[in-house]
Amino acid sequence: MSRVSLDTLLSRSERNIGSGMNAIVKKSALEVIRRAYKEGINVQISHGMRTYAEQNALYAQGRTKPGNIVTNARGGQSNHNFGLAVDYFLTTWDGSKATWSVNSDWRRVAAIGKSLGFEWGGDWRSFKDYPHLEMTGGLSTAQLRAGRRPSLKDRTGTKTAAPSKVVSEPASGGTDWVKDAQKWANSRDYPSKARFKELDEDGLPGPLSFDAFLRIYQYFGKTGIDGEWGPKSRAAAVIQDKDNHTPGWTRLLQATLCLYGYKLKVDGIFGRNTDKALRAFQRSRGITDDGITGPNTFTEMFKAA
Ligand SMILES: [Zn+2]
Repeated sequence: MSRVSLDTLLSRSERNIGSGMNAIVKKSALEVIRRAYKEGINVQISHGMRTYAEQNALYAQGRTKPGNIVTNARGGQSNHNFGLAVDYFLTTWDGSKATWSVNSDWRRVAAIGKSLGFEWGGDWRSFKDYPHLEMTGGLSTAQLRAGRRPSLKDRTGTKTAAPSKVVSEPASGGTDWVKDAQKWANSRDYPSKARFKELDEDGLPGPLSFDAFLRIYQYFGKTGIDGEWGPKSRAAAVIQDKDNHTPGWTRLLQATLCLYGYKLKVDGIFGRNTDKALRAFQRSRGITDDGITGPNTFTEMFKAA
């Protein structure tokens, strides 16, 4: 049986890490994989960035939805929501299967992570979270929710800013398309009309961005602006699709899809790319992928904002 290649472990992990991660956290996580590989341990990252909505869906698992409880954190309570945490697991020698026993190899990976500046969830006193590695730079989740971000130290000792696949992302860890979405939110006097603080155009799809977009939605829908998703907001959803749409709602749709990781131009033109991204988003949420926005789609987008 031949060993899985390091590149395979790295590229699978990069895919699972997702966009919007802090650049140093991501780089350090990939360095953990490289160092462990040299010691004969195959490790892969299963999760990195999670939106509030994804976090809430995970919280529901084992509570209101089937499955085992895997987290005690709701949206905004996990450092995954701020791109500062990753989860790992080990694989078999050929990389075909995940293994989850917390053995000496598993602990060795945690030790490598700690040497690079990570805190390990296996060291926590109350809820031990063995797959979890995070870097918060000493900030609390309350501070992170309020929009503060740590300045972290790169302890990898490697010069490459990021692996080849992420060169399109600026050094901050943000993406250009999220930056464009944030620029749009800051335009047309939306911050004062929809009552939110002008967004940092950092390309990171954080909670403040979701909050601002929901407020713009409420401004468009004339529901009263409180930043909470409720029945009134749901009732204000405007039905739009490729053949029947207005530029304002389309921009809001495009910008929100950008926050969810879809690379779109916020141009108000409901073309093939927007249609494709919308359908992919709908599939990812388990709702009908009809390319039509309405109450269900907007609920999926904003309910946990
Ligand atoms: Zn975790």
